[in-house]
Amino acid sequence: MLSQSKTSSAFSSLPLKSELTSNLETMGYEKMTLIQEQSLPLILKGEDVIGQAKTGSGKTAAFGLGLLNKLDVKRFRIQSLVLCPTRELADQVAKEIRTLARGIHNIKVLTLCGGVPMGPQIGSLEHGAHIIVGTPGRLTDHLSRGRLDLSNVNLLILDEADRMLEMGFQDALDQILGETPHQRQTLLFSATFPKQIKSMTESIMYAPKRVEVKETHDNSSIEQHFYCLKNNDQRMQALRLLLLDKRPESAVVFCNTKRETQQVADELANLGFSALAIHGDLEQRDRDRVLLQFANKSLNVLVATDVAARGLDIDALDAVFNYHLPFDFEVHTHRVGRTGRAGSKGSAYTFYTEKGYITELIGESIGRQITSEALPSDNILADIPPVPEMKTIQIDGGKKQKLRPGDILGALTNGKEISGDEIGKIQISDIRAFVAVNRRIAKRALNKLKDGKIKGRNFRAWLV
Ligand code: AMP
Repeated sequence: MLSQSKTSSAFSSLPLKSELTSNLETMGYEKMTLIQEQSLPLILKGEDVIGQAKTGSGKTAAFGLGLLNKLDVKRFRIQSLVLCPTRELADQVAKEIRTLARGIHNIKVLTLCGGVPMGPQIGSLEHGAHIIVGTPGRLTDHLSRGRLDLSNVNLLILDEADRMLEMGFQDALDQILGETPHQRQTLLFSATFPKQIKSMTESIMYAPKRVEVKETHDNSSIEQHFYCLKNNDQRMQALRLLLLDKRPESAVVFCNTKRETQQVADELANLGFSALAIHGDLEQRDRDRVLLQFANKSLNVLVATDVAARGLDIDALDAVFNYHLPFDFEVHTHRVGRTGRAGSKGSAYTFYTEKGYITELIGESIGRQITSEALPSDNILADIPPVPEMKTIQIDGGKKQKLRPGDILGALTNGKEISGDEIGKIQISDIRAFVAVNRRIAKRALNKLKDGKIKGRNFRAWLV
């Protein structure tokens, strides 16, 4: 379902070229979606815009219309560039732009993505284009070989910017942006706003206006549940029951001590849950590895102390568990606030053995008395614990070997038996690289990386 406001205005209220408006009718777009209503007037005025919106919101048409309206068809130069994290998204975006452009003759849209042969792309580039839609890795390849001239770009769009950063495209983005004129309009769309995105918008945009489709960020998107337990021994059982019943994809269990963190994680792992602990006693390298697996969805449950969880730059946890109440009310708010961001509904489950000062304050903050709910029935203890969606492959090569995310993505998706959608975060350190792949294709992906070549070289690879 597309979000449309009740007062949703018609496209005809916008200063759009008539060929665009009349084509929208033929496409059955009667009213603007919320993100279109909020962003299009600004985009058409030439402002830099940050749009917080997910797939399904109508964001492609929002920037697509902005782009087509700005385009000077008679000037056959690359005037707009759309950057996407994956080939699939780039194909989708190009398709939508072509459909939106049906009413205007001779608009040339070219997609430049990794995982497909270079030859035809080189040919198409020689013929020229108005609009390029592509993935960062392949675009930098063309740029480095002097085949792509971005000096006439006056509109740059970053679609799913968070995904691009997740996939390790920061350096590629820097290179591409460096080749576009300073005097340009920049639009950035992202479902989430981690720190990296914030600092990126500060450096690449000029006085950006931020629009957000408000299904997000207010506390009502977090449901708080409370369970009064008879004694400490009941905590583990309560946690198991809730994990088996709610089956969150990513959950953090907060403990107050390092020792308890390790005990809880070990016990969950022994019972078959995908769970690991993170606390200050772990070596930095092990800590990084746990966080990496959790962030790339290869790990369902992270058991953490408050301090250790600070290193976690994740915007959308499904659930937070308070194994123990914290000693400080602020800490509770902070823990609970980690779930339910970016439009997703989050849940917080808090265990307590008796009411006191902290439960009082929590009650005040949510405007109701805390009441204990019943735990799920013991019958589900026999259920099989959820498995993570992704698996992590480690590759024995990194920045020192000049490996870039695009190289890994290319090695996995060439031949097309693996699609970009099945590949998650790619992280590259000095001598290692990690790529998350969908569990279903993990073996195939591993074999492809082990048996095939990445950048013409063989690298060792294995499942973490
Ligand atoms: P997107 O979020 O860009 O992936 O768009 C989601 C879907 O909504 C696509 O299939 C679009 O074709 C469709 N769409 C976008 N804008 C509108 C609109 N104003 N009215 C009806 N459908 C739309």
